[in-house]
Amino acid sequence: MEPGYRMPINKVEKIWMNGTLVNWDDAKVHVMTHAMHYGSSWFEGIRCYETKCGSAVLCLDAHIQRLFDSTKMYRAEIPFTRKQLVDAVKETIRVNKLKACYIRPLAYRGYGEPGVNPFGSPVDVMIAVWEWGTYLGGEALENGIDVCVSSWNRPAPNTLPTMSKAGGNYLGSQLVKMEALLNGYAEGIALDVRGYISEGSGENIFIVRDKVLYTPPLIASILPGITRVCVMKLAEDAGFRLVEGAMPREMLYVADEVFLTGTAAEITPVRSVDKIAVGEGKPGPVTKKLQEMFFDVVRSGNDKYRWLDFV
Ligand code: PMP
Repeated sequence: MEPGYRMPINKVEKIWMNGTLVNWDDAKVHVMTHAMHYGSSWFEGIRCYETKCGSAVLCLDAHIQRLFDSTKMYRAEIPFTRKQLVDAVKETIRVNKLKACYIRPLAYRGYGEPGVNPFGSPVDVMIAVWEWGTYLGGEALENGIDVCVSSWNRPAPNTLPTMSKAGGNYLGSQLVKMEALLNGYAEGIALDVRGYISEGSGENIFIVRDKVLYTPPLIASILPGITRVCVMKLAEDAGFRLVEGAMPREMLYVADEVFLTGTAAEITPVRSVDKIAVGEGKPGPVTKKLQEMFFDVVRSGNDKYRWLDFV
């Protein structure tokens, strides 16, 4: 069997497709769909948490905004408003009667004209929801994970825009992920084309050294992560000094703490990089403090940061 933490999908009843709720098994596209041939899709990964005050979607507006940003640079116009998609996400959660779930809105160039020119293909939109647990392994959040630096780089400037969460970008992510898994690591960290630290295959990265928190900037070919912004805010509130700046690879080897952030990964500690222990080889105090603050918001439902959109 191939390596990696397995996360089978549990079907739910309905998927939202272009404004209609269709049965899970009927949510199909034609094989001539433009996105299938040319990677012309843009998506989001969002989480809905079961808080003490009811189900709430974390940073829903920010995710829908990023979906529109992702399509804008590709001149693809989503035929719905932001508000329609925000409402559609919540409706899809409600009809499927889920309390906590992962949410996947996807806009894609559909079935139109063959050929690279995308203008002749419509922009279709779908939203699926399903129950999803910890992304990087059962004990990842508590004990941390082992990662490697990937031999694959993130895209260079003016190749594929990394600020767009485009389907095609995830070919690179798949190479990073497979290489890591086949070598016995849970995740791979890609460097940018200059050799500076960029991000994981599906997560942003933070490093702690001498009590200062560091994270790579947008020009390190990262996806502008929404959890990254949440963590920056939490770090500010906790009084940690934060530096957003380019970092050489070797910062990973001398770090006191390293952690990954993402909607799926949440705040996952890293305990080793290329078999070099990070700090004492277990989650450190800064990581733990930020985890505690983050999970307090999504568990308690205390919306002091205005991140929660109750379903
Ligand atoms: N980088 C990549 C490549 C990702 O796929 C993700 C997950 N969307 C992230 C970073 C983290 O982004 P977010 O916190 O918005 O989920």
